[in-house]
Amino acid sequence: MPKTVGVAVSNATFHFDKLYTYAVLPDQEPLVKLGSMVLVPFGRGSRPRMGVVLACDAEPESAKLKYLFDVAPVSACLTPELLKLVHFLKARTFCTYYEAVKAIIPYGAQYKPSLAADGVTPVLQKQLVRHTELLYRLTGSLPAKPKPTAKQLAAVALLSGGPRTQAELEEKGISRAVADNLCAKGVLTAEKVNKSIDLYANIPQSSEPIELTKEQQDAFDALAPQLADRAPHAALLYGVTGSGKTLVFLKLIERCLELGRRALILVPEISLTPQMILRLKSAFGRRVAVQHSALNHTERLLQWQMIQDGGADIVVGTRSAVFAPLENIGLIIIDEEQEHTYRSESSPRYAAHEVARQRTADNGALLLLASATPSVESFYAAQSGRMQLLRLHQRYAGQPLPSVKIVDMRAELAAGNPREISLELEDAIRRNLKAKKQTILLLNRRGYQTMAQCEDCREVYKCPKCSVPMVYHKASGRLLCHYCGSQIEPPPKICPSCGGKLQYRGFGTQKAEEELAALFPEARILRMDQDTTAAKDAHEKLLAQFANHEYDIMLGTQMVAKGLDFEDVTLVGVLGIDSLLFAQGFGAYETVFSLITQVVGRSGRAQSPGYAIIQTTDPGNPVLNLAAAQDYDGFFEQEISYRKLGLYPPFCSLCVVGFSGTKEPEVAKAAARFSVLLRQQASAQPDIPLRVLGPTPSSILKINDRYRYKLTIKCRNDKKFRELLRRTLGLYEQEKLPSRATVAVDMHSDGDV
Ligand code: ADP
Ligand code: ZN
Repeated sequence: MPKTVGVAVSNATFHFDKLYTYAVLPDQEPLVKLGSMVLVPFGRGSRPRMGVVLACDAEPESAKLKYLFDVAPVSACLTPELLKLVHFLKARTFCTYYEAVKAIIPYGAQYKPSLAADGVTPVLQKQLVRHTELLYRLTGSLPAKPKPTAKQLAAVALLSGGPRTQAELEEKGISRAVADNLCAKGVLTAEKVNKSIDLYANIPQSSEPIELTKEQQDAFDALAPQLADRAPHAALLYGVTGSGKTLVFLKLIERCLELGRRALILVPEISLTPQMILRLKSAFGRRVAVQHSALNHTERLLQWQMIQDGGADIVVGTRSAVFAPLENIGLIIIDEEQEHTYRSESSPRYAAHEVARQRTADNGALLLLASATPSVESFYAAQSGRMQLLRLHQRYAGQPLPSVKIVDMRAELAAGNPREISLELEDAIRRNLKAKKQTILLLNRRGYQTMAQCEDCREVYKCPKCSVPMVYHKASGRLLCHYCGSQIEPPPKICPSCGGKLQYRGFGTQKAEEELAALFPEARILRMDQDTTAAKDAHEKLLAQFANHEYDIMLGTQMVAKGLDFEDVTLVGVLGIDSLLFAQGFGAYETVFSLITQVVGRSGRAQSPGYAIIQTTDPGNPVLNLAAAQDYDGFFEQEISYRKLGLYPPFCSLCVVGFSGTKEPEVAKAAARFSVLLRQQASAQPDIPLRVLGPTPSSILKINDRYRYKLTIKCRNDKKFRELLRRTLGLYEQEKLPSRATVAVDMHSDGDV
């Protein structure tokens, strides 16, 4: 009998996502273990498919066993901890095994199906070749005769300080020929090593020791013991903006490394990685790796391999970095933990928090959530004792929080100011420019004008593929759909339904930039939005230029609102967030509160006091006023009673089952059928608490020519509930309805889908 394995294959549907048994050829045996990437013949045509080995010595399902086509090298194998996460994701998020594998290993580390040189045999091919370089080491002494050359002496002097790569030698003017000649003499040895591109090699290490303030020290003292005891812990660091949470991180990371353990730091957006890396690199020097989607294939793969080979002690990155193959983790930090970007919106639909919690359990590590505006769920968990709560009440060096003024834009219009920038804000910007201070302005809408409306029939010009208005981008002279990317060029002037004249209205970042330039011709304005930061490293460059005072005003979407730390920003203006105030979903208020508090907190972080102006057409709005007062406790109290009353998280879990397809009646029918099946299952198990709402059309009915419906379930997210849902999904798939729609389960939705 040959050895057998159980393989999860790619492109499986939920219902057919099980382990398939394959036989292993004798020469493949040493390579095959749990977590191996393999290529298998699948289905009647035995077409090659990617797979991952999830069981050894599997039971053959039939007498005619197929053999594996190919096995990837052991270095591409999932580590035991990551393998566990595959099962975890499958159980928690209703994804397929292979979707979980793809989320855990970045594309660069994966193998793809290919053909061998004979043109017929299916084999695995590495997507990227491994880059190597030469590393020289001093292993002997330089003979006195013949007289050594200056270059030889320089090489020996340099290498006496430790091994150096060929590139590093060349930088110092020592050629490969010189180095190889020394090797021939037995003075040096050369070794091929994997190239680790140190993406941030030019950041100098600072020798300045960190001195914590009393409050920061207290937080550190309370947390430090939890790094040492090898038991899982969770804590929430709630500190006002500018209180120096990052300094507490740095001290904790330092302790974690002293204990011989490793640290993983998550930030919510790519734009925040450069600043975090800068701080970590200057505090700890080498051995910091990054993982985020703005890296190119090669960079991402090399960074990933550096982590897997044990070459990194600290990993920084966005959501997906939570899967970094880092071993012996002592500390996981989730900064700005309330951010939505920590939840994945495509399969597997996981939240970084749950994966981090699982990894802290596996590693006996400390999970530290941090924010100036914690999510209501996290703060509630901390308040009720399920997480340790630490507070930083004061800004570093005792600066007051910025004073905030709310400006009523209806009154502004009535008083005859047609512009989107109020007189009060204009005045404040002018004063700030004079004082040579910097200003940050938030406008959460990119483009020039945000809609085109017919003067006659009032119809708004919508994307042909999506049920959302198209946005006019003046720079590129076209209408753009922010959901599917459709473009219309040139922008139409006539209403397609009635032939009336289209009127362009609304105010996006491009138009705001124009208005600002007209008001302040002398000001240097930096616009930060998806359009100006699309290029690689653009974020980093633009932020560095702003820090360097090459600009006076930074205007942007929410990417300017969070985490940034610039000494000379003393004024923050919120040009418009009203659309967010009226958004749906139970988390809408939390989002607004957090966004405003965060952006206001960018002001007055160093010596000079900060000021902020919020423009709105709803000046009496309680959430706005609490945010203006930066009163998190007040906000939390109000929000938690609303959540309790309406039965929203944290008092239940919200599970949204989404249905999508190209024909609306079929999608609606599929949703209705699923709902019947679910209700039947639920009534058979009355002990499982749940409430089913819907089905209803989603908030945006159509995206990219696909109609969307949803079923909302208020439930307790436990094994029993997930089992029930899994059974329903199985039944639904078995029915083979003629009107099939794609089903997606999201356990982390805020309901606004
Ligand atoms: P937060 O993340 O809490 O908003 P930061 O960690 O960015 O705040 O700190 C705000 C500013 O105060 C930063 O410029 C930081 O360098 C400075 N700062 C905070 N604590 C200290 C400290 N103990 N020593 C020196 N500088 C500090
Ligand atoms: Zn569209």
